[in-house]
Amino acid sequence: MNLFQNAKFFTTVNHLKDLPDTPAEIAFVGRSNAGKSSAINTLCNHVRLAYVSKTPGRTQHINFFRLASHFDYFLVDLPGYGYAEVPESVRAHWVELLGRYLQTRESLIGLLLIMDARHPLKELDMRMLDFFRMRGQPVHILLSKSDKMNRQEQNKTLATVRQALAGYPQVSIQLFSSSKKQGLEQVETVVAGWFAGLEARQADELTDGEPDDRTPDPDSAS
Ligand code: GDP
Repeated sequence: MNLFQNAKFFTTVNHLKDLPDTPAEIAFVGRSNAGKSSAINTLCNHVRLAYVSKTPGRTQHINFFRLASHFDYFLVDLPGYGYAEVPESVRAHWVELLGRYLQTRESLIGLLLIMDARHPLKELDMRMLDFFRMRGQPVHILLSKSDKMNRQEQNKTLATVRQALAGYPQVSIQLFSSSKKQGLEQVETVVAGWFAGLEARQADELTDGEPDDRTPDPDSAS
């Protein structure tokens, strides 16, 4: 089954204190208009799962979607940042909130950062990367709307962004187009790797907790 196929809306919250308990989640972040909602809809093959915004700045909530392929795992659609139309104090408040989520959310195992391929690495994108950096967890960047570039521009952008983020070893980068449905499999492969990594760690923890049967049982010694 496609990893994201048949994801279902789970809940919406407006405050961090209301976040649901989830065993594991991956989050999508990006500047307003970067193409985040379109990317979620395209990946999930669902026309209106995430709301493609017509009025930027109005939808400042956190949406959770449950994956059908991995029932314990959730996608989190975080509010877009950098809306020009919103007062500075409100913008700052949301950046602070996103920072707190990215730094402290325990069940978060990886971040998908959406950046318009024509306008990558804006200041707030770097802030998000820095918020998340301390955790040492993976970030996968989608350079969105890549259909708006020719092949040469795409390669150049990819190389420039890679070079700029050379100091971020946990970051991987790819081109993505919702309109042309390009790059979907690459995202799935990366996220499937995150899930496999989590499952391997959980299996290790279980094994670590078990008694080591190579150690002789002192009671059975004659
Ligand atoms: P969000 O604010 O980050 O959720 O961005 P949206 O998904 O709402 O997209 C913002 C605008 O970019 C909309 O007009 C989309 O139709 C357009 N858009 C999103 N993805 C693509 C894409 O892959 N290619 C093109 N050409 N336009 C896109």
